[in-house]
Amino acid sequence: MDKKVTLKKSARLSGRCDHPWIYRSQIEKLSGDPLPGDLVGIFGKRGFVGVGYYNPRSEITIRLLSAAPTAIDKEFFKRKIQKAVRYRELAVKETNACRLIASEADGLPGFIVDRYGEVLVVQFLTMGMERLRPPVLEALKEVIPFKGIYERSDTALRSKEGLEAKKGWIEPMRGEETIIQEGNIRYGVRFEAGQKTGLYLDQRENRLEFGKWGFKGEVLDAFCYEGGFALHLALAGCRALGIDSSEEAVKQAEKNRELNGIAEEACVFKAGNIFDELRRMEREAKRFDLVVLDPPSFVKSKEALEGALKGYKEIILRSMKLLKQEGFLAVFSCSYHVDDNLLMQVSQSAAWDVRKRLRVVRFLKQSADHPIDPFIPETYYLKGFLFWVGSIDSL
Ligand code: SAH
Repeated sequence: MDKKVTLKKSARLSGRCDHPWIYRSQIEKLSGDPLPGDLVGIFGKRGFVGVGYYNPRSEITIRLLSAAPTAIDKEFFKRKIQKAVRYRELAVKETNACRLIASEADGLPGFIVDRYGEVLVVQFLTMGMERLRPPVLEALKEVIPFKGIYERSDTALRSKEGLEAKKGWIEPMRGEETIIQEGNIRYGVRFEAGQKTGLYLDQRENRLEFGKWGFKGEVLDAFCYEGGFALHLALAGCRALGIDSSEEAVKQAEKNRELNGIAEEACVFKAGNIFDELRRMEREAKRFDLVVLDPPSFVKSKEALEGALKGYKEIILRSMKLLKQEGFLAVFSCSYHVDDNLLMQVSQSAAWDVRKRLRVVRFLKQSADHPIDPFIPETYYLKGFLFWVGSIDSL
C-alpha cells in the first residue's frame, strides 16, 4: 500500500488496535498524499498497526478496517458480513426485522444494514465507506438473500464527512412500506419516511419483554414513535396512551394499532410535546401504573450534557408524580454520554425531590443485534432501568 500514516509515539494505537478510531491529533506523518476516503496503511512505533480509511475532514481521521495486512476487497467484506449474519442467526429471536451489520460493532465502521423482512436497508455513513460502496454492495448481495435493497444514507454524520444525503432503492422491490413481525405485534415500516432506517430496532428486546412481563392497568408510553411499547402492552391487556411529537409517527402508530386489531379504547395515540403533556396530565391528576420514558438522544456531544441532564431530570420527576401510590417507571438513555451512572444519579435525584423510593427491577440495554464491544465503549449507547417506585415510606 503506497499511502501511509505514521502515528505519534504517544498515540494509544501505536502498536495495538483495540479501538478503530484514530484522531487527527494522533497522526504524526502522512505519506503518498492520501485523498479523502482513501485506504491507508497505518504504522506505529512497533511497525504495522492495520489498514483503515482516511478522511481529513473528520476529527476521527482514520477508521480501522483490519488489523492484518489484508486486501480490502469483496472477499474481505464477505467474510465480515458472513460473521455478522451468523451471529444474528443465534442472537435474534421472535422477529424478521433486525440489525445485521452494526458499523464499528461488526468491524465495518460507517456501514449499517437493517433487515425488514425481505428488504435490506443500508446506510453508508462515512467517506471511506462511500468510496468502498461497490465491493461492499457486491459482497452483501452474495451473502444475504433479499427482494430489495433501500438506501437511507441521510444522517447528520454524512454531511460532516463531506457527503450528500442519498435515499432510494438500489435493488428492485419498489413500494413505500412493508410489514414486519415482532413477537405478536406487526408494524408497518416506511422506507423513505420512517425515522432512522424505519424502526428503533435497538429497543426490540425491551418491547418484547415488557409485553410479557405482566404489567396491568394504565400505561404511558412517552416518546412512543410508531407505537412501540404501547402496542405490546395494549395487546397484553393494559390500557395504553402513547405520545410522540411527530404527527407522522402518531399516524403510523394508529395504523399499526388497526393492523394488530387492537381496540381504540385499549390504546390511544396523541401528538404532543412530552414536556407539556406531562405538565398537563399532572394538572389533571392523571395516574399511571407504568410510565415508559424513551427520549431521543438529548446529548450529541459532551458539551451539551448539563442541559440534557436537566431535561432527563424533568421528565423523570414529572413521570414519578404521575405514578399511582406504587407503580413502575422505565427510563432509557440512548446517548453514549449519559451512561448508567449518570442516568441512575438523575433518577435518584428526581426520586429524592418527589419523596419516592426506587427499586431496580431490571437493568436494560440495547438488543443483542446491536452488539457491545467493550474495547469500543461507544458501541454501548442504549441503557435503562425498570424501577418499582413507591412513596418514601411505602416500599
Ligand atoms: N420508544 C420508541 C422509540 C422512541 S425514539 C420505540 O420503541 O419505537 C424517540 C421519539 O421521541 C421519536 O419518535 C421522536 O419523534 C420523539 N420525540 C422527540 N422529542 C420529543 C418531545 N419533546 N416530545 C415527544 N416526543 C418527542
